[in-house]
Amino acid sequence: FNDRLDQEIKKSDRSGLPLALLFLDLDRFKEVNDSLGHIRGDDLLEITAQRLNECTRESDTVARLGGDEFTIILSSLENSSNVYRVLESILSSVEQPFQLEHERAYVTASIGVTFYPSDASNAEELIKNADQAMYAAKNAGRNQTSFFTKNMQQASEARTRLANELYQALEKKQIWVAYQPIVELQTGRIIKAEALARWSHPELGEISPGEFIPVAEETGMIVDIGFWVIETALKQLQYWLHEKTLREDFTLAINLSPSQLTDQFLAKKVKNLLNVYQIPASHVEFEITESNLISGEWASEALQKISDLGVKVAVDDFGTGYSSLSHLKDYTIDVIKIDRSFVERIELTKPRQLFTAICAFSHSLEYETVAEGIETDIHDAICKEVGVTRLQGYYYSKPLPVTAFESQYFYAS
Ligand code: C2E
Ligand code: MG
Ligand code: MG
Repeated sequence: FNDRLDQEIKKSDRSGLPLALLFLDLDRFKEVNDSLGHIRGDDLLEITAQRLNECTRESDTVARLGGDEFTIILSSLENSSNVYRVLESILSSVEQPFQLEHERAYVTASIGVTFYPSDASNAEELIKNADQAMYAAKNAGRNQTSFFTKNMQQASEARTRLANELYQALEKKQIWVAYQPIVELQTGRIIKAEALARWSHPELGEISPGEFIPVAEETGMIVDIGFWVIETALKQLQYWLHEKTLREDFTLAINLSPSQLTDQFLAKKVKNLLNVYQIPASHVEFEITESNLISGEWASEALQKISDLGVKVAVDDFGTGYSSLSHLKDYTIDVIKIDRSFVERIELTKPRQLFTAICAFSHSLEYETVAEGIETDIHDAICKEVGVTRLQGYYYSKPLPVTAFESQYFYAS
């Protein structure tokens, strides 16, 4: 592939005709691999390669870089509408069902596109561009193409800068933990809190976890940051338990990233912290997002070990992660947190029906149900009507620094 790309760049220089580089990554290939096995997965890749070949001209190049990643060079482009035609035919051909022995599988493709010479001056840059454009296509919701722009390059550079800054953030004590109250329906009192990481950067200001947690995940820094959050939150809990009058039914919820769950010693470390800080496990809950639950055996094993300590397990952002309901039984789950997006549109019929159905489902399986993102009295009233028992959102309180949380919890009348 590299050799071909170099050749095509030289040809383009000579002929003056541009070339397009496509970077294609299959969506949901991992699911096929995990559920049907590697052999069927390999079959699917072979069929994909054939289909890609059929969508392109003899003189184009189709290559597989590794995993489920393919690159395609469309050379000597006389006019750009050809590129659109090829892209369309690739998307629709990958979408066709794959017959793998007796099973049918479905995948889609995310494709990044970049042009030589208009977007880049050499092969290396061109590949980087196509990769960034593919990343944008994934982020935009998959099964689509995305053309490289200078903005993408800036966004990618910003991510790199953020990652470099993040490396020092813990050490420089720029990370801290905010606590958001979760209120009990019947009594209106704070029954839980969620610990949420915050990053105050001296020059860049407040950086939201929505921005830095994904960077921490991509770079592996989430393991250290996540553990620091756990330890900080548990130290706080120790103080409330032993120096203040924390009620016995109070639970502190802490978010876990998937890479923390791959740490086989996580349960041991947590057990150790609970011992050191003398915290009964029943005061602690770990949240894992629904989309991260799906992937494989190790997650269920790690969660089981955590659950065996007596710590509660919550499924976060429930309703967004495409998990099959039958999958849920593989996990020890205590709490379902219904995603904010349902509450956001709860005044509309469909979201409200969905919200009601999820509550009924959660209720009948005897999970505790928490609704996130309660912002208005209308949200609040409808949640109460539907019978959600735990409510979290700006309507009650934003996430607070420790002292503000303490005055809410310990001193509020
Ligand atoms: P999450 O776990 O779903 O946390 C709830 C998010 O919703 C928080 O955003 C919270 O501030 C926000 N929120 C709460 N009530 C409302 C409301 O009424 N309206 C709106 N619009 N938003 C509300 P935040 O703090 O920005 O955190 C975003 C995400 O970052 C969290 O989503 C969580 O997935 C992740 N995160 C935060 N801290 C950590 C951490 O220590 N470790 C890990 N692994 N992830 C973390
Ligand atoms: Mg959460
Ligand atoms: Mg959530």
